[in-house]
Amino acid sequence: MTNLAIQIKGLTKIYPPDKRAVDTLDLEIKEGEIMALLGPNGAGKSTTIRAASTLCGFDEGSVVIAGFDVDTHSIEVRQAIGVVAQQTGIDYFLTGRENMVLQGHLYRMKKADINDRIKELASYFELNGSIDNLVSTYSGGMRRKLDIACALIHRPKVLFLDEPTLGLDIKNRKILWKHIDKLNKEFGLTILLTTHYLEEADNLSHQVAIINNGKVQVVDTPDALKNSIHGDSITVTFDDVGKNEQAFFHFAQQQSYIKGSTWEDNKLHLYVEDGGANVAALMAVAADNKAQISNLSLSRPTLDDVFLKYTGSSILDTKEDEGDEWWKQWAGKGGNTGKWKSQWGASDSDAKEAEADEDQSWKNSDWAKNNDNGENLGTQKRDEAQSQQDVWPSGQQRRPGKEESNNAAGEQGSQKWGQSQQDDWQNNEWNKNKDGGEK
Ligand code: ADP
Repeated sequence: MTNLAIQIKGLTKIYPPDKRAVDTLDLEIKEGEIMALLGPNGAGKSTTIRAASTLCGFDEGSVVIAGFDVDTHSIEVRQAIGVVAQQTGIDYFLTGRENMVLQGHLYRMKKADINDRIKELASYFELNGSIDNLVSTYSGGMRRKLDIACALIHRPKVLFLDEPTLGLDIKNRKILWKHIDKLNKEFGLTILLTTHYLEEADNLSHQVAIINNGKVQVVDTPDALKNSIHGDSITVTFDDVGKNEQAFFHFAQQQSYIKGSTWEDNKLHLYVEDGGANVAALMAVAADNKAQISNLSLSRPTLDDVFLKYTGSSILDTKEDEGDEWWKQWAGKGGNTGKWKSQWGASDSDAKEAEADEDQSWKNSDWAKNNDNGENLGTQKRDEAQSQQDVWPSGQQRRPGKEESNNAAGEQGSQKWGQSQQDDWQNNEWNKNKDGGEK
């Protein structure tokens, strides 16, 4: 029987005076799985992660992580987990190495052990060349990698990632996905992540939980969720929704090929059996009722259709604030003045240089070669709308389920992680110390 890495039952968190941020939420994540929490802003995703990672208390329910109850064994829980919050915890005025040393000391690790881990993690995250540089010279992607490396310093079994790729461009998002995927596949790390990027949830996770109003609305594999939407998705956009458009909706619903519908402002999402064949008949219904259609699109259902069904809005409308340049954030209200700009704005050029190095390392990586079909992501500039369509490398299958993944270890693993690397991993210090590491 597979053990549960995370078991949340009836979790309720009320912020004073009466804001139910999380409301009797249940969630179970098996060891070695990645689960993505999807939900609109304010749905309760971050609060769930904060409660599960001992960062805030809660009013009702129970949370058990890696076998430890957060209420009664919070120290053991903290040893078992790594947390990467939305707001980075790293210090821009220290080097990458100094940040990791600091983190290691916070976990009371021994100096030699910290040094070993820095070596392993810097190499794993391809930060070797910049680990002794100030973080202020890092690109956004490098900072996120350092963030995750810091969270892994003490060899946790469970990793919480709150919007790990928020604000990163498509190339850096893909680089981070590669690392997250590898951490799960190769080291069996259980990962709970929140995200606004559907393709991130779709391709990276074994299970997706859609959260709204502090409750889990549905949990399943990405494929099962998409298959739960019957028919093709036809989205009809109107300039205005008047009585002709409502009449069209009324009569459209009576057609046998219409399997479901959702309104979203002036957009009507229709789920249509054999959409390609029936779109003409649907247009005839629109013409009969003199409905003014400004746009119509036909596609296979995506996770966004599932999201729409359970939350009433498209995830594309729930963008998170992607934040400001680090030095503006750091300097607070006065951050955008000439003084800070002249001092730290200059570091943008260092970041660009670091990014160019990263670009090269990404292009040379097996993962990019195996998954990118020769696309040059380094110079690729796509807007967000397009990135929603096809950011996962074409031809790349969604990750297999745990069992498939085990069965396919030979084929899948050999692409990126051969037997000799697996042996190296079995024998390396990180793995050997995994359970016996001193506190
Ligand atoms: P999400 O991560 O899904 O955007 P959050 O967990 O951050 O949602 O927030 C859930 C709800 O709780 C929101 O309505 C938010 O405004 C509210 N909330 C979050 N943190 C606090 C707080 N410290 N005090 C009061 N309300 C809060």
